Amino acid sequence: MTALPQTSARSAIAFDNSYARLPGSMHAGVLPTPVEAPRLIKVNQGLAAELGIDPEALTAEMAVGNVVPPGASPLAQAYAGHQFGQFVPQLGDGRAILLGEVVDQNGRRRDIQLKGAGQTPFSRRGDGRAALGPVLREYLVSEAMHALGIPTTRALMAATTGEKVYRETALPGAVLTRVAASHIRVGTFQFFAARRDVESLKALLDHAVARHYPELAQAENPALAFLDAVMEAQARLVSRWVQVGFVHGVMNTDNMAVSGETIDYGPCAFMDAYDPATVFSSIDEYGRYAYDNQAPIAMWNLARLAEALLSLLDEDRDEAIRIATARVEGFPQIYTRHWLAGFRRKIGLVSEEEGDLELIQALLDAMQLARADFTITFRALSHGGEPEALAGWLPTWRERLARDPQTEAERRSLMGSVNPAYIPRNHRVEAMIRAAVDRQDYAPFEEMLRVLSSPYEEQAGAEAYAEPPGETEKVYRTFCGT
Ligand code: AMP
Ligand code: MG
Repeated sequence: MTALPQTSARSAIAFDNSYARLPGSMHAGVLPTPVEAPRLIKVNQGLAAELGIDPEALTAEMAVGNVVPPGASPLAQAYAGHQFGQFVPQLGDGRAILLGEVVDQNGRRRDIQLKGAGQTPFSRRGDGRAALGPVLREYLVSEAMHALGIPTTRALMAATTGEKVYRETALPGAVLTRVAASHIRVGTFQFFAARRDVESLKALLDHAVARHYPELAQAENPALAFLDAVMEAQARLVSRWVQVGFVHGVMNTDNMAVSGETIDYGPCAFMDAYDPATVFSSIDEYGRYAYDNQAPIAMWNLARLAEALLSLLDEDRDEAIRIATARVEGFPQIYTRHWLAGFRRKIGLVSEEEGDLELIQALLDAMQLARADFTITFRALSHGGEPEALAGWLPTWRERLARDPQTEAERRSLMGSVNPAYIPRNHRVEAMIRAAVDRQDYAPFEEMLRVLSSPYEEQAGAEAYAEPPGETEKVYRTFCGT
């Protein structure tokens, strides 16, 4: 591989690359493949500041990988994964290149990765590239999730390459700079477990614990403590998703981060009308990753993590299996605790009563029957609105509220802080992408990004972003971000 030109001797980015220092079995060094005519679309100024990077230093050349900043150690990470239930022993970063890590202003270690920066040893038959549409979708939706208060990878930059990528048609190419607490996935553990490479597995566990759950390093059984912590983080994450109507769309084990951040925005979308069977992904024929199946699938994925950790859980395999099984079977309870806490807030409760779960379920059932818009319904309840579809449910809710200690003002403020006015509605996301791809018009991207940065605040002039799609605007299918 040829060395690339560097910006200057001093790097604008204070890299400290711990993953690159891990055993060579875990990654492959690779440089981004330069592109013809890079152009910046967007730099995330706030995130750059958080990372201690001068946004002025973030150039188009850097955003596409034509210039690799000093201090970076570009590499592709090895991982495996279950894709729609089928185990693939080798996936890995086929089009993403980790430049390195920085410790941010809050002392947290963050990965900086270029997605779409060219082929790697893990590309298989792929071109290593990303199309503009999916890059804009990931930028916008991940930043919207962050503003909603949901753990997620972030977007630092987006740039076009000036080159075409070939999918069903020729599309403009682009690169997304993704920032993550780490890119360690359930599938990263599976990669080494499948190879019976216990040494690398142990190194990965130590690294992941030190990075995400440092308080567990001294635990009697760190692998077990880690499994518990990831289960808790995923229960919390998936419960947050369903509280805003988010459907991830490809919850393969390679798309589940052990940090508990949402990762990999491919065919994801937010539902409009409440229907628990909602599926958007064009490749999800059987609804494996439907809205209401996300918690069971998280549990299924966590069982795969537990399996991958078996050799570290106990020397005796039967004992390891017994421990792992007992742990994973506890997931529904952990999830329900998070789900209930979240939906209690959504209906304005701070106190807890036995019948709350049934009360919430009755609301959801009424919404489903009426095909009520998920976001608008909860927002209306926050403002004291009385949706007609809920006429039968409202009196029971009122009765319950009378036994809750909050004042009306406190309740409205609580509900307003968890029931967003604005979500990235799919028909808007599609229209934003069409404007950029077909007409090089990035104004909708900019405007949507701005509105979605304060999702809990009503904004004058942004009313259209709160509206559900009209009959002709409905989007039923989203396509994978490849
Ligand atoms: P994803 O569906 O984005 O989660 O990707 C699944 C796997 O396919 C990962 O190993 C990716 O790196 C790989 N992949 C996806 N798109 C491409 C591409 N255009 N070129 C090379 N590898 C790809
Ligand atoms: Mg992926």
